[in-house]
Amino acid sequence: MAKPTTSGELALIERIRQHAGTRRGAVSLGIGDDCAILRVPRGHEVVVTTDFSLEGRHFRRDLHSPRSIGHRTLARGLSDLAAMGARPLAAFLSLALPKSVARDKRWLDAFLDGLLTLARLSKVPLAGGDTSESPADFVLADIVLLGAVPAGRALRRDGAHPGDLLYVTNALGGAAAELSQLLATPLQPKAKPALRHNPPAVESSRSPHFFPQPRLRLGRELLRHRLATAAIDLSDGLSTDLAHLCTASGVAAELDAAAIPIHDSARTLLPDGPARLNAALHGGEDYELLFAARPGATIPRSLAGVRLTRIGRLIPRRARQPQLTLIDSAGRRHPLPPQGWQHLA
Ligand SMILES: [Mg+2]
Repeated sequence: MAKPTTSGELALIERIRQHAGTRRGAVSLGIGDDCAILRVPRGHEVVVTTDFSLEGRHFRRDLHSPRSIGHRTLARGLSDLAAMGARPLAAFLSLALPKSVARDKRWLDAFLDGLLTLARLSKVPLAGGDTSESPADFVLADIVLLGAVPAGRALRRDGAHPGDLLYVTNALGGAAAELSQLLATPLQPKAKPALRHNPPAVESSRSPHFFPQPRLRLGRELLRHRLATAAIDLSDGLSTDLAHLCTASGVAAELDAAAIPIHDSARTLLPDGPARLNAALHGGEDYELLFAARPGATIPRSLAGVRLTRIGRLIPRRARQPQLTLIDSAGRRHPLPPQGWQHLA
């Protein structure tokens, strides 16, 4: 935690320290000194990921409750740890807040509550960070996460081979469907940002857009049982994230359109099959895992309480052939360009 320069920052850090509590885990020294000190489990390597959540790009204060913004800030980083099969060690949060928000105790408390509730459930201590008053009128929340994996065993994007089968966790398209409904809902005119505390009607703790569930336990089980040859989390959308995995592994992929599991939110909120498939293929922020497994591997129907579905296979990469191909229910092949969703852009 950097040294505070104003009494306002000092008070804010003290509030975060109070909210963060005294959970220790891998942290031998947490908030309050110049650096945190972490214990790395014997025989493990440290994985590190950083994500910033920028108002207007990743969330809007008029659309998202502070509780959801706090949850999503941490969930994005935890999902990256899940994709590597890592166990979380510690989180570091840096916040830049406009003056109106920094003074708004309710907003900040709800934001921290959303973030720290997920931290508690995921057993990751908040071990430090930094705060600053933002000169601009938008919130920036930056999260750094450290995790541990058995040395040499991290699930990476580059370990897949032609012939491997592709699987996803749970179901896709729910987050994009909820966002499209959210953007179509008229807002209260002239609501002051600092006073926008009422979550929109669609927001619930089971909503994949507002409260995505990082698949930490599932990622660790994939690693522990050596089930996956490669893995990635679905943050930008299946078509884009699968292309990342294919590029890293030097392979191409075929997806079976009819096999792709559609989230219930997409079924109820989107008008027809093509719109639902589109959300599942290109909608971002589902934070499910995509992984490849050897064709002979025995993949259970569910793992860590989460359903697994086979959606396609990897094939050799050939010049002048599309990297991704979608096979429809009639067996016709369609090139599938990556069209991952651009968040709130
Ligand atoms: Mg990722």
